[in-house]
Amino acid sequence: MKEPFLSAIPVLKRLEDAGYEAYFVGGSVRDYLLNKTISDVDIATSATPEEVKEIFPKTVDIGIEHGTVLVLVNQQSYEITTFRTEGEYQDYRRPKEVSFIRNLNEDLQRRDFTMNAIAMDRDGTLIDPFNGQLAIRENVIRTVGSANNRFQEDALRMMRAVRFVSQLSFSIEEETRHALAELVPLLQNIAVERKRAEFEKLLVGKNCNKAIEILLETNIFSFLPGLADQKKLIEKLVDFDCDGLTKKEMWSLLLFCLSVKGKAIETFLRDWRLPMKEIKDIQQILFFVEKRLEQEWSVYDLYSAGSDTITSTEKLYNKINGLNGSESLQYWLNLYQKLPIKQLSSLAVTGSDLMEWFNQQGGPWVKETLLKIEQAVINETVENDKKTIKEWLKRCQKLE
Ligand code: ATP
Ligand code: MG
Repeated sequence: MKEPFLSAIPVLKRLEDAGYEAYFVGGSVRDYLLNKTISDVDIATSATPEEVKEIFPKTVDIGIEHGTVLVLVNQQSYEITTFRTEGEYQDYRRPKEVSFIRNLNEDLQRRDFTMNAIAMDRDGTLIDPFNGQLAIRENVIRTVGSANNRFQEDALRMMRAVRFVSQLSFSIEEETRHALAELVPLLQNIAVERKRAEFEKLLVGKNCNKAIEILLETNIFSFLPGLADQKKLIEKLVDFDCDGLTKKEMWSLLLFCLSVKGKAIETFLRDWRLPMKEIKDIQQILFFVEKRLEQEWSVYDLYSAGSDTITSTEKLYNKINGLNGSESLQYWLNLYQKLPIKQLSSLAVTGSDLMEWFNQQGGPWVKETLLKIEQAVINETVENDKKTIKEWLKRCQKLE
């Protein structure tokens, strides 16, 4: 075994010492078998959430109704989920209520795909009742049990299948694919937030182009906000080399392909329930991408954009023009680094200085003058030095 499992072994041991069963499960075991970097280790146990909380002094209830408790051990946090079945499914959605059980196999059985239904104990022994290892060897995504039933229980699993195509470059096994082709309309019952989580993982996956192709072939895209009836435009995304792009850059590229501009960007992303901060960042990136396609960066634009937006804009500019290499990005970032100031607060003068110098009360003129000074400092018309700026301002006034 290797990290991060090794550090988590004491967590399993403590549960076992208290008389419960405990295993590593889910994505971490799958990624371990695939020799991929493991993000978080998920732990499943026969102990109920209350019992887990009795064993570990530091816990956070993060999804207690689904049986998940976050446990803090040696500055690390682990999600511990009680073995459960999902009982009755309603309206093709994940059930509201779950029942806790003491049996591992039943817990593995409620999981979506065979590759995600493997458990590993603390000695590294695998418990794999549904042949998940075979699926991993064959690079296939296959539901645990009848694909028809599993997709009807929770339609989100269809999107999960496609996001795993993107992340793992696996293909969807035939029966699973058939069921998916038939049941896609059930996705209309699924909350946007859940769809977004899968869609964002899909966007940043290595095999994103193929996954987008599948979204189009299977008609899943028709059940995603803002994408219905946009097949022709979404197809443009399939031809892009999306390697190395971040989540925000992928959203920006998607919106660029869809020719969504101005106010419509916010509407589109709000429909996907993106947080406002991310919406603002994406709007800014798209604003500068459009500008960049018309002209080179001005120093003032570099200043207004800041290094993160310059980076995203330039990466997208290169992708859109089919250019590779990061020389242009380095060039513009260097220029940005050399700017005399990076933000208004670094200006050597403040509003109160201005009021004192001109012996005038505050008002819109203060902000206007500061912006004028800011521009002049950025363009290196005047040095960012209090005395120099004062003299420059007086000179400007005389000319007016
Ligand atoms: P990632 O590495 O992206 O986190 P993951 O496989 O861990 O992938 P999660 O969404 O974190 O995916 O879910 C953890 C595990 O919970 C899955 O491996 C799977 O066993 C189970 N699971 C998650 N969502 C569902 C679902 N909708 N239906 C059935 N099982 C699910
Ligand atoms: Mg996970």
